[in-house]
This record gives sequence, C-alpha cells and structure tokens, in this order.
Amino acid sequence: MTYDRLVCANCAAPVSEGRCPVCRASRERLQQESPWSGLNPTALIVLAAVLIAAVALLAHQTA
Ligand SMILES: [Zn+2]
Repeated sequence: MTYDRLVCANCAAPVSEGRCPVCRASRERLQQESPWSGLNPTALIVLAAVLIAAVALLAHQTA
C-alpha cells in the first residue's frame, strides 16, 4: 500500500486522511487495488479449469 504517501489534488492533504470526498474516493479505490484483486477471480477460474483438465487427462491415461 502506497496510498498513504499520495497527496490529494483537490485539498492538498494526504489522501490517507480522507479530508474531502476526492480523498475518500481515491482511498477506497486504492485500497481495493491490490495485485491479487484484479487477478484472483479470473486466474482462479482458469487455474481450476487447467487442473480439472489435467486430472481428467491423467485419469483417462491411467484408466
Ligand atoms: Zn482531498
């Protein structure tokens, strides 16, 4: 998290203090943006599909 170093363009106070609506909006947006938040839903679905396919392939080969 680096948002505590950000300075608001609207009120020139640290965004982490949330002094104005612009601060609070930026803070909420930045708190939601982690490296995993954008990746997780789709990446997990793809990973699960790949795993299921691999297991099915292995089961088919060994059976
Ligand atoms: Zn502000």
